[in-house]
Parts: sequence; structure tokens; C-alpha cells
Amino acid sequence: PTASKLLVVVAISGGGGGLLAYSDSKPPEGLNAIAASEYKNKKRVVVLGTGWAGTSFLKNLKNPSYDVQVISPRNYFAFTPLLPSVTCGTVEARSIVEPIRRIVKKKNVGIHFTEAECISIDPVNKKVYCQFSQDTNSDGKKEFSVDYDYLVIGVGARANTFNIPGVVENAHFLKEVEDAQRIRRSVIDCFERANLPTLSDEERRRILHFVIVGGGPTGVEFAAELHDYVNEDLMNLYPDVKKLVKITLLEATDHILNMFDKRITAFAEEKFKREGIDVKTGSAVVKVSDKEISTKAIKSGETSSMPYGMVVWSTGIGTRPLIMDFMQKISQTNRRVLATDEWLRVEGCDNIYALGDCATINQRKVMEDIAAIFKKADKDESGTLTVKEMQDAIDDVVERYPQVELYLKNNQMESIVDLLMHAKGDKTMESIELNIEEFKSALSKVDSQMKNLPATAQVAAQQGSYLADCFNRMEEAERNPEGPIRFRGEGRHRFRPFRYKHFGQFAPLGGEQTAAQLPGDWVSIGHSSQWLWYSVYASKQVSWRTRALVVSDWMRRFVYGRDSSGI
Ligand code: FAD
Repeated sequence: PTASKLLVVVAISGGGGGLLAYSDSKPPEGLNAIAASEYKNKKRVVVLGTGWAGTSFLKNLKNPSYDVQVISPRNYFAFTPLLPSVTCGTVEARSIVEPIRRIVKKKNVGIHFTEAECISIDPVNKKVYCQFSQDTNSDGKKEFSVDYDYLVIGVGARANTFNIPGVVENAHFLKEVEDAQRIRRSVIDCFERANLPTLSDEERRRILHFVIVGGGPTGVEFAAELHDYVNEDLMNLYPDVKKLVKITLLEATDHILNMFDKRITAFAEEKFKREGIDVKTGSAVVKVSDKEISTKAIKSGETSSMPYGMVVWSTGIGTRPLIMDFMQKISQTNRRVLATDEWLRVEGCDNIYALGDCATINQRKVMEDIAAIFKKADKDESGTLTVKEMQDAIDDVVERYPQVELYLKNNQMESIVDLLMHAKGDKTMESIELNIEEFKSALSKVDSQMKNLPATAQVAAQQGSYLADCFNRMEEAERNPEGPIRFRGEGRHRFRPFRYKHFGQFAPLGGEQTAAQLPGDWVSIGHSSQWLWYSVYASKQVSWRTRALVVSDWMRRFVYGRDSSGI
């Protein structure tokens, strides 16, 4: 059957509250018996979201035994790391997006896309309830439901306002392509308004005060882009107001880029200071009105206000209402994101997977399991492990949780690390005095420090391709499980757990300089890293079309500068 024939749309009358339902229980007419039976045997996979996680899953899914329904309010994939470049016209919006239908156009897997938003998940009846983004022509009904055998949730997160008054009404977010386009227009609007002849200098100064809230990688990159845009392109075009422009970066903690190496933080702060970007650390925003932003100094508690022309809010991510509602249903309350196990399965649910920014692997559970491995290794319950037992236990932990080895190495758990590493290397010792209770309590300390995986495209994309690989080999792994031995229950897990590989991170700082922190704590800052940044981001593009567009945008910018029409 062709992909388009797989969906039968039926209207449920009565009980469904006038909902439309997508059902594939009845094969389409015209199929021969074999094709119809194949059709019936297909497992229905519903994928929510066309961001990094969802798209990576779809790109890597090759097994034709699924019927896949993709639901997202966005019919395209957006390369988010280049959004700050879109805000200042360095790169065009259309260069960083690729239609999802083009990405999933495959010959052997039936993948259908519906532009709609999922509004509720019913894990008991295995259904998702959705709402079309567009007005429908028929009877005006916008809601429909879809049944699933497997649900893959990759809906990402929304901007976090911490419920600070006035943020939603007055600040710009930088999360979606539309946000970046709005910011681009707004920057130019500020310059045009400041040039109106009837304004006082004070008013011009206010309009040309750009405030960025949040000193993370996105806030810093936007501040740097804006600084370059103003100095390299707009100063020449608006000479009358060039002295009045001010850029302020507000950060609540003591430093910007605090997830990076200290050398990078220091370099960025120094560079911004030199260039006149006012970095105010230890300063939390408490209110945003239409013309003023109020802050409170964290240490002294002093409050103050400053007039602004434009605020960009970039303070991290919050939970989407859909996920909050779902977490209530499955008793995952008091959490920011969905908790999954290391196979990305949502805890407490059957056949529901969650990846990307809307989920995280439950580290507490991981720690409990690690403690249990060591306890199990102590076969005679003496509290002492032989070297062999210790080695086996370590191997078991590292096979199950590869990230732990790295984690233990990096986090000042010297006594335990020494013990573990010693046990691995020193074959002459006969036994290790290891008190299991002490070890467990040390691990519980690790638990509080153990960080969740970062909410990045890198994590989301790797999770998507890991899960697709599991789906591709589902039947094969059923017969030959390859995962670690089960704790609770017999045999092995079907798959190895998800393993995150960190390839490093960039912080573009403007002026053709970038800071790069690569694995092994290798830090490089400057023009050479900028070229590395160009190469990595060109190579990571989702298609040859976007790659060509992005590279040509960069070349256009070198030759003609950035566009200053704001369109
Ligand atoms: P997203 O990519 O946000 O995708 C979520 C998808 O779900 C979207 O298609 C959305 O339309 C859809 N959706 C939303 N609600 C619903 C619903 N109710 N029903 C169905 N679908 C829904 N990471 C890096 O690694 N490197 C970087 O340099 C980097 N730079 C960034 C710069 C910016 C400006 C931003 C905003 C983020 C950046 N990130 C970067 C982070 C990265 O973009 C995210 O971690 C990544 O997008 C997470 O992927 P995701 O698939 O979970 O969510």
C-alpha cells in the first residue's frame, strides 16, 4: 500500500464528543489479501514533535513494519543553533528550516504527517488527542484522536518565565523561528523609531537600550550577534544615533556561561567588557513593564529599574502544558520533565518513550540500581568484595551505565574512584575492604550531584537515533537480547541502554571569535574555533539544500554585510 492510503479517517458520533478519530483498524479497499494482512500487522507508532528528537528518530527509522503518524504544529524541522544568527540577518530563516515531509519521504517506511498539536495523552486507552492548527473546512471540528501501539514524545520545552510579571507581555523569546524573525524586525524598528525627529535624546537612549536576560549560551550568543550587527552594519546607516546604543546582559548567578570552563567564562566577560556590553551578574529580574525592567541584586537585595527599548528573554526552559498534564496522569508530580529509564521508556507507562528537552533519565533510580549491583556482588554478605567480585561489579555498572565511569572520574569522589580504579588495575590485591553501607551512602551523595543530561540538540538527536535503532531491531533483539542482565526478572534486556556521547560545545562570542570546549576539557578560544564552528554547523545541517543555503548566507554576509531592512 502507498503511504497515503494507510489512513482511514472516520467520524465518531456520540460518546467521542464529536471528535474525529484516525483509525487504521480497517484496511483500505483494493488491497489484496497479503497486503491487507501486512497492513493489519503493522504496529502504529505515533511521534509527537518535529524537533531534534522527533526528526532524528524519523530520519533513522528504517524498519517497514511500522505505520508511523507524525503530529506536530510545525511542518518543518528547524536548526535551532543558528536561530541567534537569524535574529540579525546573518542567516535567513528559510535557510535553517527543512519541510518534514521532505525529510521523511522514504520508500519503505509509511510515515504520515499531520499539522496539529497534541493536547492530551491517554496512556490507559493508548490514544492521543490533538487539535488541528488550521481551520478545517468541514463542520469546524478541530479535534481528533489517534490510537497508538508505541508513542514517541519529543515535544521539547517552552521558554521559562519563572512567572515573573510582565515577561510574557513585554519580552521577546528566542525559541522558535518566528521568535527570531520578530526579534529581527524589532531591532530595526527600534533604530527607525529612535531616528524620528520629534524625540528627546533621553527617549532615543531608552529605545536603543537592548536588554538580554540570561547569560547562558543563547543569551551570550545573541548579545554578541547584536553587538556585531550594530557595529558592523547599523552604525553606518544610522550615524545620528550610534552613540546612544547600549546592550545590557543580565545574569542572576555570579558569572555568564557558567556551564563552560572557567577560562571561557573569563574570556567572554572580559571581551564583552572591552566592547562595551554591560554584563550585570548577580542581578535577577523581578518585573518587566512596557518601558522599564526591574531587577534585584541577589546579594544586597537592592532593587532598581532601567528603561529599555527591547528585552530578549533567554533564561532556560520550562515544561509544556501537555507534559504537565501527562505527568499528573501518571503520578510523576513535582518534576520539571518526564522521568524515563535508560532505555528512554517513560517510567510507569507501557510503550511510551520520551526524548529530548521534555524528558530526562531518572538518575535516582540509576543510583539505586548501582548500589544494588554492588550489594549483589557481595555474595557472602561479608561487606567485603574480592578483586574479582569488584571487577565484575564495576564491569556490570559500566556496561549498564557507561556514563557513570566518566562521571566518577570527573567528580571529586576520590576515595571511591581510587578504590574502583585501584581494584581494576592492581591485580596483586586479594580483596578490597568495602563496606557496602558506606558505599551506598557515598553514592547517595553522588545522586544529589549527578547532573541530568543537558537539554541540548546533541542529546535530543542522539536519543532519536538510538530509539530508531531499537525500533529497527525490535524483532531481532527479541530473539537475541543484547542488553545487560535484568535485575528484577530473568534474562537480558533487549537493548543496551542509551549512551550519550559528548562531542563538545561552542559559545560564539562575536567578532569572528568562538569558544570551543571539546571532550577531554580541551578549550580553544578565538578565530580558529570560529572556523571549526562554521565547519561543524555546516556539516550538521539536515539536508544538502539547507547546507548550501546556510553557507551561501555566510558568504553573502562576508561580502555585503547583514540585511538591515528587518524583513
Ligand atoms: P524541539 O527541537 O524544541 O522540538 C519540539 C517539537 O515538538 C517541535 O516540532 C514543536 O513544534 C513540537 N511540539 C510542541 N508542542 C507540541 C504538541 N503539543 N504536540 C505535538 N508537537 C508539539 N543545542 C545544542 O546542542 N547546540 C546549540 O548550539 C544550541 N543552540 C540553541 C539555540 C537556541 C536559540 C535554542 C532555542 C536552543 C538551542 N539548543 C542548542 C537547544 C536545542 O535546540 C534543544 O535542546 C533541542 O531543540 C531539543 O530538541 P527537542 O526535539 O526535544 O525539542
